[in-house]
Amino acid sequence: MPKTILITGGSRGIGRATAVLFARQGWNVALSFVGNQQSADETCALCERAGITGNAFARKCDVRDETSVVNFFNSARERFGSIDGVINNAGIVAPKSALADMDIERMKNVFDTNVLGAYLVAREAARTLQSGGSLVNVSSIAAKLGSPGEYVDYAGSKGAIDTLTIGLARELGPKGIRVNAVRPGIINTEIHASGGRPERVVELGPACPLGRPGKADEVAQSIYWLTSDAASYVTGSIIDVSGGR
Ligand code: NDP
Repeated sequence: MPKTILITGGSRGIGRATAVLFARQGWNVALSFVGNQQSADETCALCERAGITGNAFARKCDVRDETSVVNFFNSARERFGSIDGVINNAGIVAPKSALADMDIERMKNVFDTNVLGAYLVAREAARTLQSGGSLVNVSSIAAKLGSPGEYVDYAGSKGAIDTLTIGLARELGPKGIRVNAVRPGIINTEIHASGGRPERVVELGPACPLGRPGKADEVAQSIYWLTSDAASYVTGSIIDVSGGR
């Protein structure tokens, strides 16, 4: 019987690479999108092609909306019976700005998506996962570096994810549920274009000890390891996947 992974923001980027990797390992995949149904359908098709034993489906889910998150978990349970792992991946960045110039709508949207949204997903994971289950949160190296002059709101939102990871690991550990996080560095996805600076990948990507930007699949590999039984004694850990940045 294949295990089931639920991934928020699985339509593109790191979420897509993660979905395909789990499918390749034989898992069922429930993935969400918020606007790009076509990308989500493409990811499902990639999963189906990569999959050995599992199936994949995509649902619209806005992580800022409580009902939407609950419905996504319910539909995954209805389709696959149980959920064995959750990847709390959906996230956004707003265009580059100094804090002094940020308007409140922008900051609300970043915090609603990256903090409230991630906490709502983590809450459903806490309600749903059984002993042996795993939650992986997708933070950012920005939580360590602060992103001055660019995205201090985003960096702060990811700091909250690190704290969530530590607290929830302690809360759910006694139930046999593990909670970990990855902190990606500069990864070549569309998020940099949505932050108004697609050139970040070529400009900042090489500015790390490994001298290049990361690939979405390289983050997916760490997410998969943290979810897998190979990491059965790992909880409350936050792993940098940043080329040393
Ligand atoms: P992308 O922009 O490529 O993909 C973002 C994904 O999140 C899409 O699937 C998108 O859905 C979904 N999404 C956006 N807003 C919402 C919402 N309100 N509710 C539900 N889903 C939503 O980003 P990445 O793959 O690069 O980023 C994935 C995660 O990795 C994020 O948390 C990001 O902060 C983090 N990260 C990325 C880094 C990088 O360099 N790429 C570095 C550090 C961290 P749709 O396709 O429908 O729009």
